[in-house]
Amino acid sequence: MPALVDAHCHLGDPAFDGDRAAVLARAAAAGVGHVVVTAESLVGSSRAATLAREHPGLSATAGVHPHEAASWDAAAPPRLRELLAAPELVAVGETGLDYHYDHAPRSAQRAAFEGQLALAADLGKPVVIHARDADDDMAALLREWGGRVPLVLHSFAGSRALFTAGMEIGAYFSFSGMITFKNWRPAVPPSEYPADRLLVETDAPYLAPVPHRGHRNEPAFVPDIVTALARQRGASPDALARQTSENARRVFGNRIATSLASREDPA
Ligand SMILES: [Zn+2]
Repeated sequence: MPALVDAHCHLGDPAFDGDRAAVLARAAAAGVGHVVVTAESLVGSSRAATLAREHPGLSATAGVHPHEAASWDAAAPPRLRELLAAPELVAVGETGLDYHYDHAPRSAQRAAFEGQLALAADLGKPVVIHARDADDDMAALLREWGGRVPLVLHSFAGSRALFTAGMEIGAYFSFSGMITFKNWRPAVPPSEYPADRLLVETDAPYLAPVPHRGHRNEPAFVPDIVTALARQRGASPDALARQTSENARRVFGNRIATSLASREDPA
């Protein structure tokens, strides 16, 4: 299988504190050429940035998750801007709306999300989006911002309405281990997604794919997700691997391209 990109992994999570180097070694052995280390808070953004600075096979995002949106204040945008100035910082996020858990007031979630969309548009970086049970507000914001900044809908399992809104603005759809679950009943069949909009991710340490379900997830499990997605699309896993890595290069940029090239051609 061609080198894979894990487009969304919380590698800074304390769940990896005991064996992060071994996790990275297993990822490389499994053919994962690059991991986008995704942040969920300001502290997490600093941690992700440090990891990416230390490893050429990693890049990082900086942002505030909707669960943490109550922490969004005037100090957040300049701090994120400062982190995002580094070349290994490839996207803003994860940010978005989660009306399922409502861990932060919805008005705070919208304010934090719109603040991060504005920052990303200003910096010319893509936005990694978490969307759960907020389809109407999310579709409206996708349509408002989609022309200004590339948007990635992570661990996508949305409604047809959200799929349609994403398609209208050329969003990327990132598939996680959820597609391997026995109870996976997609609103939109995976075969309907255009190949050039697809990404794959673990969302580790969460959402371990079958046959690892119930255990900690890690980037080495990306091939299980590619295999499942290929089967559901009636495509070859190799072609899907090549396509999703190409898509990751297109949306996240040169850092990923350089990392994969050095892996394919260790000169
Ligand atoms: Zn995540």
